[in-house]
Amino acid sequence: MSQHIFNEQQAGLQLVSSTNNHYFDSVQPSDTPDPELIQARLPMILQTSLDIIQVIHLFDNEVRALIGYQGLSYKHPALNEKLEIGSKRHHRCHYQLEIDQVNIGELELTRNKKFSTAEIELIEDLLCKLVYPLRNCTLYQKALSASVTDMLSGLYNRQAFDQGLMREMELAKRQQAPFSLLVVDIDNFKQINDSLGHAAGDQAIRSIGELLKSMLRQTDTAYRFGGEEFTLLLSHTELEDAMMVAERLRQSIAELKCLNGENSFGFTVSIGVAGHRESDTATSIFKRADDALYQAKHSGKNIVSSGLASH
Ligand code: GH3
Ligand code: MG
Ligand code: MG
Repeated sequence: MSQHIFNEQQAGLQLVSSTNNHYFDSVQPSDTPDPELIQARLPMILQTSLDIIQVIHLFDNEVRALIGYQGLSYKHPALNEKLEIGSKRHHRCHYQLEIDQVNIGELELTRNKKFSTAEIELIEDLLCKLVYPLRNCTLYQKALSASVTDMLSGLYNRQAFDQGLMREMELAKRQQAPFSLLVVDIDNFKQINDSLGHAAGDQAIRSIGELLKSMLRQTDTAYRFGGEEFTLLLSHTELEDAMMVAERLRQSIAELKCLNGENSFGFTVSIGVAGHRESDTATSIFKRADDALYQAKHSGKNIVSSGLASH
């Protein structure tokens, strides 16, 4: 195992690589494309997208024939899955990519033949052209994600909810996919603020955020709608099942203990639930869930109420 440390200090760029070549006796591919031409056009090509996966595909398209590798794999911290292009082989060249303290992922090239010193130098030159577009993609993704995130709860925000609801409405229309909407409101929240202080109120909102993130399925999405109100979109879920999810949620929240200095406190929520109907608009399904919440509040709070009950 040999280690290559490549440092371009002025740019704050660091590529840390490892390869499992024991000796370098590989042969250049016979129909090698022009490395200078590819190096010259690569930055321009890679800047045509801000999508991480697309940028890696563009890079692969340009340099695969030049280096002559069979497999490329790439893992970015923001991506759930590793991107695999081609087929993985025995000899590998592995890079941890980082720029200006931003982790921009791990990239590995593999093939049947060992990588030569000259090839490794070429790969590192090419990677230098890849890291800036990847950094731009990463910063763009972070900005995008911040713009739809509520900082206090860590959940998606109201803007994201509006988009999520439109998406579910579209799916319901095109694929007849059922979905349900929950509106969750903390009971007597003003009292928590008034008696325990604003910081305790904030803690309650954070705790709900953590609980929702840990409890929900991948296809369910939770949002902080505003103040002490939360909404949940449950994809592929009929009203009956949504009622069970809401009841489980109500119970779990009632059992939560929030820390307030030395003391802990608890609180409850009321939940309004509506299942999508064919005649629904985004406004009508939201109104049905909100009306159901109103009913739950008027029936004594700490209650789940369904949209059907309001009709
Ligand atoms: P109900 O049981 O009927 O829902 O009554 P409530 O007291 O929960 O509702 P109300 O609408 O009377 O009060 C909501 C309070 O939530 C008022 C507002 O100051 C507080 N609030 C809104 N956003 C935040 C926040 O981010 N942090 C804290 N600590 N309080 C907030
Ligand atoms: Mg409220
Ligand atoms: Mg409330």
